[in-house]
Amino acid sequence: MRAYDVILKKRDGHELSKEEIEFMVNGFVKGEIPDYQMAAFLMAVYFRHMNAEERYNLTETMARSGDTIDLSFIPGIKVDKHSTGGVGDKTTLVLAPMVASCGLPVAKMSGRGLGHTGGTVDKLESIPGFRTALSEEEFKKCVKEHLIAVVGQTANLAPADKKIYALRDVTATVDEISLISSSIMSKKLAAGADAIVLDVKVGSGAFMKDIASATDLARAMVDIGKRHGKSMVALITDMDKPLGRTVGNAIEVEEAIETLKGNGPDDLEELCIELGAQMLKLGKISDNLSQARKMLKESISSGKALEKMREMIIAQGGDPRVVDDTSLLGISKKTYDLKCESAGYVGGMDAEKIGIASMKLGAGREKKEDVIDLSVGIRLNKKTGDEVKPKDVLCTLYYNSEEKLQEAIKLVKESYRISKTKPKKVEIVHGVVD
Ligand code: URA
Repeated sequence: MRAYDVILKKRDGHELSKEEIEFMVNGFVKGEIPDYQMAAFLMAVYFRHMNAEERYNLTETMARSGDTIDLSFIPGIKVDKHSTGGVGDKTTLVLAPMVASCGLPVAKMSGRGLGHTGGTVDKLESIPGFRTALSEEEFKKCVKEHLIAVVGQTANLAPADKKIYALRDVTATVDEISLISSSIMSKKLAAGADAIVLDVKVGSGAFMKDIASATDLARAMVDIGKRHGKSMVALITDMDKPLGRTVGNAIEVEEAIETLKGNGPDDLEELCIELGAQMLKLGKISDNLSQARKMLKESISSGKALEKMREMIIAQGGDPRVVDDTSLLGISKKTYDLKCESAGYVGGMDAEKIGIASMKLGAGREKKEDVIDLSVGIRLNKKTGDEVKPKDVLCTLYYNSEEKLQEAIKLVKESYRISKTKPKKVEIVHGVVD
């Protein structure tokens, strides 16, 4: 077999066999297929796409390229959750303690941020001492004793995806449904859960900009999971504006803690309840969604979820005092208020630009090797639908470098659209695919 022939076949729009897909992926991982041929192959997939059989085979090949995690030490159904990535998406920080406090074990491997989207692992590292790189034994001990552990992905989890993703990132081949679905699902399959809840984001801050493509992506991932015998459900959720009112790292942990205390923004709390209800149902902790929602609301009002967060922080070596005193998170003291110049309503926001502004402040990485500044970020005092008048603070930027601040201000200014009329309220959950 020759890489040239496989590229040509896909370039001309034909279906690839399992052997051809394995040849390309395994050959690339072993270093036998060079970057330029893999890049040409990915571009051919980008334009010609893959059918369900090809996606299944691509996912399977990438999932098997490294370690698979054995979660059989946890009794019952193991439920995982994954977001396709967004701006201000601190869902795992709130959701994991909520569902664990309801009795569902959470053994979660999360990612780091790249580009305009943030990552749970970076955010957690703003808790002083918190360890996201646990040994397998430590990870298992945490889940067994506390029903919760949130860690970074092990280096050898779906290494084929890691290598292919790095190439996609620099060859403009990220936003294609076959490539995204196989990338996400290969990691989910290798991570060992029996059931998976997907949070598929749609809107200006997401990879999928319209509901039709987000639904196609959700359907592709649900189908891949079901063919692997997993219970699957995907929620299509709004990312036309950032989630909650903070974007960054330490500042998002602060908001997550406030949400667990019952003082969180409505969109974040509602999304966590909706995703959590699906998780409790798939995990058979509850027979129906309305009962599950009630349990989750109660986990906040009773303080159980907050206590679970504290327990997780202690178990993973972090300073639990942050739960009571979020000033210990070290959010930057240097702030800049961006003021509104006209009256009306926030008619819309470009969430991606807000994410890029936060990255420019230092909260995210442009390249994988970049070191991030956990203390910087953006607090959104006004979001889509809010009434504004001149001199109102639209948002506060937390910064450390004057030069970076100027770049971020420009982007944030461009991202707010002020209109005379109040825009229609958009629901956080647009639809369910199962
Ligand atoms: N997240 C992933 O893990 N992979 C993609 O391709 C896109 C988002």
